[in-house]
Amino acid sequence: MTNKTYCELCFKNFASYKNLVIHERNVHSNNKLIPHFYILSQPTSEQIIYYINSFIILLKKKLGFSRHAIGKKHLLIDTFPENVFVYLFKNEETFKYSPAKRKYQCNFEGYAGITRLNQLFCYNQWSFRENPHTNTKGYVLLEDYENKYQIKFTWSQTILSENNRELILERMNCNFITDSVVMNVN
Ligand SMILES: [Zn+2]
Repeated sequence: MTNKTYCELCFKNFASYKNLVIHERNVHSNNKLIPHFYILSQPTSEQIIYYINSFIILLKKKLGFSRHAIGKKHLLIDTFPENVFVYLFKNEETFKYSPAKRKYQCNFEGYAGITRLNQLFCYNQWSFRENPHTNTKGYVLLEDYENKYQIKFTWSQTILSENNRELILERMNCNFITDSVVMNVN
């Protein structure tokens, strides 16, 4: 799979996969075109909801109220279908695809990013978890008084092989930063 040496976007040939990757980075770094889009069937809304819910449940498990719950976090779903990722994010400004790496990316930043994800997930409580007993809230940090931060979604295909048997994993990775805060009680 990674032996491919031609560019699927402009059909140029390269001496090596490495050269192809360099070409792609230089010439098609913000590519949104998916050459095989026609084979990606449109997922049902039930499928999309299922994967959004899985993501939200796993994300909330990363949110907490202690010091350990603060900082860079990483979440991985090993079985996230390509078509669900594509249909969920393809219309976003930051959505991009690398044919050489078979990899998609989409990032969201700041309050605008939270608002947009609220819309995409049809749920405005995906990014935080509250503990009413201690009045604390664990949340995905996307903006504070001085900075904006990103939540990054990537999808890639990994093939594990063992004695001619292959397992294709369709992986969705998500990187984000968490924080916690004591809520105001009034
Ligand atoms: Zn090209």
